Amino acid sequence: MIPFLDLNAINAQYRDELVAAATRVIESGWYIQGTEVKAFEEEFADYCGSKHCIGVANGLDALTLTLRAWKEMGKLKEGDEVIVPANTYIASILAISENRLKPVLVEPEEATFNLCPEKTAAAITSNTKAIVAVHLYGQISPMPELMQLADQHGLLVLEDAAQAHGASIDSRKAGSWGHAAGFSFYPGKNLGALGDAGAVTTDDEELAKTIRALGNYGSHKKYENLYRGVNSRLDEIQAAMLRVKLRHLDEEIESRREVAEYYLTHIETPNIQLPEVGNRESHVWHLFVVRSAKREELQKYLAEQGVQTLIHYPVPPHQQKAYPNWGSMHYPLTESIHQTVLSLPMGPTLSTEGCNQVTEACNDW
Ligand SMILES: *Cc1c(COP(=O)(O)O)cnc(C)c1O
Repeated sequence: MIPFLDLNAINAQYRDELVAAATRVIESGWYIQGTEVKAFEEEFADYCGSKHCIGVANGLDALTLTLRAWKEMGKLKEGDEVIVPANTYIASILAISENRLKPVLVEPEEATFNLCPEKTAAAITSNTKAIVAVHLYGQISPMPELMQLADQHGLLVLEDAAQAHGASIDSRKAGSWGHAAGFSFYPGKNLGALGDAGAVTTDDEELAKTIRALGNYGSHKKYENLYRGVNSRLDEIQAAMLRVKLRHLDEEIESRREVAEYYLTHIETPNIQLPEVGNRESHVWHLFVVRSAKREELQKYLAEQGVQTLIHYPVPPHQQKAYPNWGSMHYPLTESIHQTVLSLPMGPTLSTEGCNQVTEACNDW
């Protein structure tokens, strides 16, 4: 069987380094807010090309705390409109609604699944205060154009970079384009911890300090509480795991690109629509998503051939029960994306034989 993602094989490559790092933390006797987190924050900020990195408990918190910090700083207030792609993973939208901001869902560009400057511009009103640019499936959004648009309208830009560690435009990486970016290190992400973890990157020192305080009970200084914060911190042990994984991230991205290139050049059948890519550097292939009008049949056939696939995502956010008021809204492009997408096996340890088995199964279908 070709698994959708072989996490065990990925982490087994670094077993000795991971065990050594875990041992170091266990023997240090220091498990929260110590040297591993500090070192990872510096290394990840450096990797992304941003000035600050703040470790938090997960990717959803990275997004939620950034918007919350902008509220505390007086840059956003309840009811402000925040533009977000309608076809995103629900977490991008939860971060907005949790802060009592108003998500304004915008249809993506069909070829990239990401926000496009034109549809984003058309959704801007006098109440719009921010844009959440999601780099879906690992492909960075058109950041130069979105930042220009944001500048023209005085909007804040938060990158949801949970799927796009290392994706870049003109050598400038995801996480360094917006006013801030939220990353997830959920185990299955391209940079994955061995448990939950997340981070925010930003060049804004005041924002960095505010997020750090909000994630630590609202406290900049022990026993002084400026905000009604939460507890959302990156653990030492996860930071130590991430420091190991970060050292191998670029090689893993290269391996993912090779898998994607194999699929793109070998899958040839009119019933399967392949993803479109701009520059090689812009996509880090968190997911390799094809489309088919007969997606369910294709998924079933591939499963019979020993190829495991997943759907990202089967139900769009506006049709989720969590948002009952949106049930009557229609986003035809988003809905058609959700009805037709299928994610093929993808990962840095997928062999050429594995790619070939996936490709043949697709072409035989
Ligand atoms: C995974 C993900 C998140 C949430 O990250 P967690 O660490 O699981 O909380 C947010 N946005 C996108 C696009 C994601 O893929």
